Amino acid sequence: MNKYINADSQQFFAFNVWNIESAKAVMDAAVQSGKSLILQTSMKAYEQLDKEEFITYVKSYGKKKKIKIFLHLDHCRKIDYIREAVDCGWDSVMIDASERPLSENIKMTNEVIELAKSKGVLVEAEIGQIRGQEDEISSVTDGIASIADIQKFLKNTDIDMIAAAIGTVHGLYKGIPNIHYDLIEQIAEITDLPFVVHGGTGLTDEVLIRLLSYKNVKKINISTDVKLAYKKGIEKSMQKSVMEVGGFDPLAVNRSIHDSIQNMAAKKLRLLEKGKAT
Ligand SMILES: [Zn+2]
Repeated sequence: MNKYINADSQQFFAFNVWNIESAKAVMDAAVQSGKSLILQTSMKAYEQLDKEEFITYVKSYGKKKKIKIFLHLDHCRKIDYIREAVDCGWDSVMIDASERPLSENIKMTNEVIELAKSKGVLVEAEIGQIRGQEDEISSVTDGIASIADIQKFLKNTDIDMIAAAIGTVHGLYKGIPNIHYDLIEQIAEITDLPFVVHGGTGLTDEVLIRLLSYKNVKKINISTDVKLAYKKGIEKSMQKSVMEVGGFDPLAVNRSIHDSIQNMAAKKLRLLEKGKAT
């Protein structure tokens, strides 16, 4: 089976999108830079999505523009949603049972693997909890995955990508993140599975480039940055007074949002060249 992401594949940025417009803006960045990428949806966005219509659009636009676009369901806690995504043709899914005890996480992950693998859908799982910035983080080691847990997890599951808490968080960072690069290296020593970095927003270009210098880092998730670019696009169009001059112009607002998201994504994609693992 040809896995789109594997030990030898390229490195990817995965951008969170929530509708066709946000997906198109990110895909246009892929077209601009000639890079493949992953579009992913949170569970909440996925709930509101017209799945079949969405995937039809994404895949046909990618085909027309001759770029490879992969669709991923991120942080999913519901098996039913995963089953539906698998049936609809999503390329990969993430089962997030990381808040459960390790044994339950393993059990739930195996359930997902059973229903996904037969359809060629890849499975990402999380060990240790990647927090949101809003969560109370009491110490630097809080939530960081232990190598023993990772080993046990890998021994008992057959996942395709591994996400582990290394000190990155979802949302915005309040201070300088304490990233455990050593853990990325330790994981590379025990497995050649693609490693997924969550919480890519707010990391400086230097940090992203350093992360990309690890050969096993194959996917870096960018979510909050897409939302911020969306907001910036609206604000910019407001400054141009599209609301008043010649009447309200929704197309101008759309264009401004599109360009703002595309520019942000294109900037990240350029880092793939700079950070290329050797
Ligand atoms: Zn995440």
